Amino acid sequence: MKVGLDIDGVLADFISPFLRFMEQYAGNGPIDPESITDLNFSDHPFLSNEIVTECILSVSNDPKFWRQLAPLPSPEQWKLLDDLSRQERLVFVTHRYERESYSIHEVTCDWLKQHGIAQPAVYFTQNYKSELISKLKIELFVDDRHENCRDVAERTGAVVLMPHRIYNQSFNHPRVQRIQDLAELFDYLE
Ligand SMILES: [Mg+2]
Repeated sequence: MKVGLDIDGVLADFISPFLRFMEQYAGNGPIDPESITDLNFSDHPFLSNEIVTECILSVSNDPKFWRQLAPLPSPEQWKLLDDLSRQERLVFVTHRYERESYSIHEVTCDWLKQHGIAQPAVYFTQNYKSELISKLKIELFVDDRHENCRDVAERTGAVVLMPHRIYNQSFNHPRVQRIQDLAELFDYLE
């Protein structure tokens, strides 16, 4: 079974440093992670669409932001992911923005290598992830963003797992399975 993994929110803690960045930018005091009930921030009390877009553009231009993201899997889980990767059964699929000023591809691969994936295969897209999932013949897909889960569930034959997060808690789809821990991914592979 070939696996496709999203990176931010699945393997890397993106939301914590991103909220800290937005706190500094917005200057409205601390942002409670529990207040982020949607990754589009559409109903947030003081984070406007403009602020969020500006902040995403800013961090996208900063390689340091991506290098410093904390890993979410345990060391044992990284080892299992590396095993899959060595068998060419694992790819990473991300919507991270590519920039002229530096190579996000290199930064992302270095980060994955640092956590034990010897030869990471990373695909970047600004289109629907389902296009890549079909093209790469991925059979099991994991993403924390419910829009991506719906897209892949409805447009491909892949099994779709969505790690539980505050910002995806209200989403339900018959073909998207919510998981509490990445360990459940490995149960699927047995
Ligand atoms: Mg994500």
